[in-house]
Amino acid sequence: MSHHIQYSLNEDRVGILNFDREGSSANIFDHDTLEELATHLDTIEADTELRGLVLVSAKEKIFIAGADINAFSRVEDPEALREIARAGQETFARISDLKIPTVAAIHGQALGGGCEIALACDYRLASDSRDTKIGLPEVTLGILPAWGGSYRLPRLIGLPNALDMILAGKRVAAYPAKKKGLVDQLCPREHFIRIATEWIGKGKPQRKRHWKTRNPLAKMIIRSRVRPMLQKKTNGHYPAPFKALEVCLKAVSADRATAFKLEQDALVELLLTDVCQHLVRLFFLQERARKISVYEGDVAPTDTVGVIGAGVMGAGIAQWSAARGNRVILKDINPEALQKGMAAIGKVFTGAVKRHVFTRTEAQAALDRIFPTAVEVPFKDVDLIIEAATENMDLKKKIFAGLDAAAGPDTVLATNTSALSITELAETTSDPGRVVGIHYFNPVHKMQLVEVVRGRQTRPEVLQRALAFVQQSGKLPVVVNDSPGFLVNRILIPYLMEAGALFEAGADPKAIDGAMLDFGMPMGPLRLIDEVGIDVAHHVATFFAETFGDRMPMPESLNQLLEAGLLGRKSGKGFFLYGGKGDPQVNPEALAFVRTAEHRGASRELLEERMLNKMLVESRMCLEEGVVESADDIDFAMIFGAGFAPFRGGPMQVDKQVERTGT
Ligand code: NAD
Repeated sequence: MSHHIQYSLNEDRVGILNFDREGSSANIFDHDTLEELATHLDTIEADTELRGLVLVSAKEKIFIAGADINAFSRVEDPEALREIARAGQETFARISDLKIPTVAAIHGQALGGGCEIALACDYRLASDSRDTKIGLPEVTLGILPAWGGSYRLPRLIGLPNALDMILAGKRVAAYPAKKKGLVDQLCPREHFIRIATEWIGKGKPQRKRHWKTRNPLAKMIIRSRVRPMLQKKTNGHYPAPFKALEVCLKAVSADRATAFKLEQDALVELLLTDVCQHLVRLFFLQERARKISVYEGDVAPTDTVGVIGAGVMGAGIAQWSAARGNRVILKDINPEALQKGMAAIGKVFTGAVKRHVFTRTEAQAALDRIFPTAVEVPFKDVDLIIEAATENMDLKKKIFAGLDAAAGPDTVLATNTSALSITELAETTSDPGRVVGIHYFNPVHKMQLVEVVRGRQTRPEVLQRALAFVQQSGKLPVVVNDSPGFLVNRILIPYLMEAGALFEAGADPKAIDGAMLDFGMPMGPLRLIDEVGIDVAHHVATFFAETFGDRMPMPESLNQLLEAGLLGRKSGKGFFLYGGKGDPQVNPEALAFVRTAEHRGASRELLEERMLNKMLVESRMCLEEGVVESADDIDFAMIFGAGFAPFRGGPMQVDKQVERTGT
């Protein structure tokens, strides 16, 4: 038998189940752990002298992270899947059926099955720690809580609150969890057993049922409000939240056996969908990115970071790095730009404090870690320098030659260039092996992906230092070989240019964007060009047109919009008009740049096919050319770097499907 849970009795005759998975920093529920728990429950049920039971975790940051996704994602037999649901439901039901009071004392993450076992207890304590997060994130994997969570959470905190958590897969921190009634008391972890014993002294609780959980009219109203919201949010592409809604609505007034059956049926159905398969794969790709390594030995950690250029990207990188504990020197040649950059950083921190990401003190401490300068300062003791100055090869070469002399011998020199050659840039330094690309996406604090670019001479150890820095800051890296536009932009730009070409050929701008929104992109391509800015898009498109020739021609309309000063959102006008209420309307001035009527009234299918095809072709070419190592890298990077429809699994998965089915 496994040894992932220790059971002990204290002097008050309170039983303590201590979750402490062997050889791991996390507790999870796999088959063995559930069996082990069942064996401990045999002992607990047989002990007539027992006064109460407390569930705790020995891990530093995790109570219980959930079920073993690896195990259930490989099962295809519906009966075996049902059995997985049943095993968890039945084991946790034994806890809720105990005659003695039970307390889950939660420190760290209590997610999925970890939250569900806590819900099966009579009381919940939580440590008031930043690490404590409670939630049922199953829908983000395309499934629903099926170890009693869909049945128990609405009963405990009411349907509206429960749906708010379950349908979005939200994780709540300790304080809001207490406010919602999800936990009964917050206290320091050190006092868990003493305070749990006090709760046990109160006996089994008599909880009031929320009236909304039983009232059929209230349920009807909730359904009629929530369904349209879900439809808007998911565009109908994600079945799990809809299923979870129906199960919660029915389970809340059903007896336990019926509710468990509802959970099982829904789980089996959802697990066998393509959407679930794609989302689970994505979960593993994320895990892989967090651990990916290209070098066997130990590498020096990154403490102090230099950022060159305090524009949009430099400020963003400085903010993110300081927030994750780095000391940052932020340098710009232009004092005004520096001031603007610091103001932008302040704004991101203020927003984060409002959203309770940081306390005011933490945000201030992070701000204090940034040292802004418009004059030369020593860079000798800096571990890593990220250049984020204006996109211009000559300028960047000068900066790199200067950094080469100013930095210490072990300092890694990185550039945030969007498309310029890392290899060429590295050649201006005395040690090209220490030059690497660290390419963030805009806005830095929102976009999770970072392309870590290997120049032809980049040393593995340097690449590893860049990777570790990105991982340690909580971003998701993908390793890309140096080539024009790297990976994400290389695939995205031809798609955007095709949208421009279709616009010029008479297709309605709303239909162009609508086709890709329906496909599942987070924003239409013309709107995206407007958001990026026509000037920036023009600059990038020029580079791509020069580099790739006919495959990525620059739409003439970009030139014309630029000349007319229609710069997109920042100037209030681009393909669309901004500043009004509701969805932006088509800009009539832009329509003057339509050249033919070839695609006027084009069908959604045709528009989608034309634009999507550009991404699929380029994705295939990136793989063939070895820009990245695997199709997984492409799917992962396009989803996290460009918002490619996650439920479709990424461009390479779509390509496979097109090949298989012709649709
Ligand atoms: P930006 O124009 O907002 O900022 C560039 C800053 O660099 C300016 O403040 C400028 O004063 C400063 N600068 C110029 N020369 C300098 C020097 N010698 N020393 C110090 N500072 C100097 O540009 P940005 O959008 O932040 O882009 C910066 C880099 O990041 C570019 O290489 C760009 O291609 C890349 N990038 C941009 C985006 C984006 O969406 N904006 C996304 C990814 C990567």
